[in-house]
Amino acid sequence: MNDGVVDLLVIGAGISGLGMARMAKSRGVDPLVVEAGSHIGGAIDSHRFRTERGSYWAELGGHTCYNSYGNLLQLLQESSQLDRLVAKRKLRYSMQIGNRLTSIPSQLKFIELLGVLPRLWRSKKEGRSVREYFGGIIGRQNFQRVLGPALDAVVCQPAAEFPADALFRKKPRRKEIMRSYTGAEGLQSFVDGIASGLQIRTQSPVTGVERNGAHYQIRLQGGETIEASRLALAVAPDVAAKLLAAPLPEVAARIAEIEMADIISQAVLLRSDQVSTPLLAGIIGRDDDFYSVVSRDPVADEHYRAFTFHFRPDRRDEAARLARICQVLGVSEGDILASVTRQNRLPALRLGHAERVGQIDRALRGHSLAITGNWFSGVSIEDSLVRTHDECQRLLGGD
Ligand SMILES: Cc1cc2nc3c(=O)[nH]c(=O)nc-3n(C[C@H](O)[C@H](O)[C@H](O)COP(=O)(O)OP(=O)(O)OC[C@H]3O[C@@H](n4cnc5c(N)ncnc54)[C@H](O)[C@@H]3O)c2cc1C
Repeated sequence: MNDGVVDLLVIGAGISGLGMARMAKSRGVDPLVVEAGSHIGGAIDSHRFRTERGSYWAELGGHTCYNSYGNLLQLLQESSQLDRLVAKRKLRYSMQIGNRLTSIPSQLKFIELLGVLPRLWRSKKEGRSVREYFGGIIGRQNFQRVLGPALDAVVCQPAAEFPADALFRKKPRRKEIMRSYTGAEGLQSFVDGIASGLQIRTQSPVTGVERNGAHYQIRLQGGETIEASRLALAVAPDVAAKLLAAPLPEVAARIAEIEMADIISQAVLLRSDQVSTPLLAGIIGRDDDFYSVVSRDPVADEHYRAFTFHFRPDRRDEAARLARICQVLGVSEGDILASVTRQNRLPALRLGHAERVGQIDRALRGHSLAITGNWFSGVSIEDSLVRTHDECQRLLGGD
């Protein structure tokens, strides 16, 4: 802070905003993070159920990190967390079809697969939708029956019109690190470690941004203003578009074209001896009320199991959701020890997105403003941090 002017104001305390603040701090800049809600971590939210045996966590949003997450691993290293990774057990995903839980390979049509596989080596992702690209590789029926629902489960929304190159972007793996992992108390442990020592103001929604000479003036709900010499937006595109409407209307207009998908995520806690469903990583819903179910089973617990159902946004009726959860898990409502619901949102990327990002980036040149989030190259935690790293470098220099 210099003469009441903040060095760098970061809007949003999800992994993108916290990553930006941490990367800035390691470059000698003193950031202030302002967050609308009371929770730090945004879409990373490891809920702690209180049980008679102590607390038991379950993920309401992001759940798994991989050894290809180089930027995240760097942040974990810098916050002394690299030796505290918890390996996730290798368990399978199953597919729910009506009231049957089936294995995924059992749903594949192998004859169709044989006919189309040779195209794998000729296929390019760029400029093609998920349906065009993956459907071309695996065949139309296999896409509809298996891969389509599986990809819907990955991005928690209908994925067919997503740009194919926004999914499974190849990143180098750090072979000395376990392949998939979480933290001791879920991914929230990582967030809390990264946030530690940062200046963060929660329950401070930003309602407006204006230019004030060489500075930015940021207005909080309630009327307070903060002056900052640099600004980083790490919020969803619809929020970014609103906040940039005054200082950068053309950029705001391009960002406003990006749509968002809503998800209703509901986690339930059960005693292990009440659930007969075999141990699994999760369940893919096919033509179901939910896109996916994420299980806590990959981190073993003797006494409890938890399952987070990611429901389609129109499944608003809580009683109907609970009834479906009970059907799928083969339990009765009385067996559920606790239940918690969270509204999640993810960007719904479409073809032409890379060109839009290119236009936004050209318009940002020369401004002391960074824009990051999970809506640039892809929606994963590492995609968010790749963008954050690039924007931090542009704004502040350094590696
Ligand atoms: C159900 C689900 C499962 C997922 N699973 C995985 C997974 O297993 N692995 C993986 O890599 N990724 C996963 N993801 C994706 C990943 O978790 C997210 O893309 C990533 O965490 C997004 O981080 P972010 O900081 O860009 O955005 P967010 O986490 O959305 O953070 C934005 C923050 O900005 C705040 N904010 C909004 N408006 C304002 C305002 N006006 N003023 C101040 N603050 C504001 C919000 O409250 C929020 O805290 C999953 C996502 C979901 C929803």
